[in-house]
Amino acid sequence: MTKAEIFTLPARRGRACRLGKGQAIKIINTHGHQVVDTWAFSAEDLHEFMSMEHMRPTIGTIFPTKGHHLQTNRRRSILFFEEDTSPGIHDTLLAACDDYRYGLLGCTEYHDNCTDNLYAGMRQIGLTPPEVPSPLNLWMNIPVAKDGKTGWGEPLSKAGDYVVLRAQMDCIIAMSACPQDILPINKGKPVEAHYQIVS
Ligand SMILES: [Zn+2]
Repeated sequence: MTKAEIFTLPARRGRACRLGKGQAIKIINTHGHQVVDTWAFSAEDLHEFMSMEHMRPTIGTIFPTKGHHLQTNRRRSILFFEEDTSPGIHDTLLAACDDYRYGLLGCTEYHDNCTDNLYAGMRQIGLTPPEVPSPLNLWMNIPVAKDGKTGWGEPLSKAGDYVVLRAQMDCIIAMSACPQDILPINKGKPVEAHYQIVS
């Protein structure tokens, strides 16, 4: 068996790739403390995409993990969450960061952000997303208290933790190594991650 090529998701940047139905992507938290915003779009129609708000009622939790089908805005399974070596804390509540967000956090100059990384990653393979869906924020630790209050945690994953997401239809996967360096979600130090296409 040939070993699948390992691609780098550079720190603070975005990448996208195509997955045929039945193929899977292994996304690796190489250093253990990096959040990876992840999107999936139907290859047939980019207006159909993985949607956190459509998925949550189907899986019955705000924490998708191994064994869950991740749904589109047309309520079809686009990815199957096949493996998760981390404690299974991923965020589905928060929008991707964008330049406006960093403005609110006090930045007076442009700050790298996941929204622009989605566009840049998709552009590299000749595509433009029709909108910026709320991403599956892999390893992002947003604690939710009983009273509904949310917080900002550091990832609970360790170096080398990975997830495997298997395509249930031909799709495009886009990822952003979140450049958030003001809040503690990446332990204040955004770094690279890696991914492989596995069969
Ligand atoms: Zn981000």
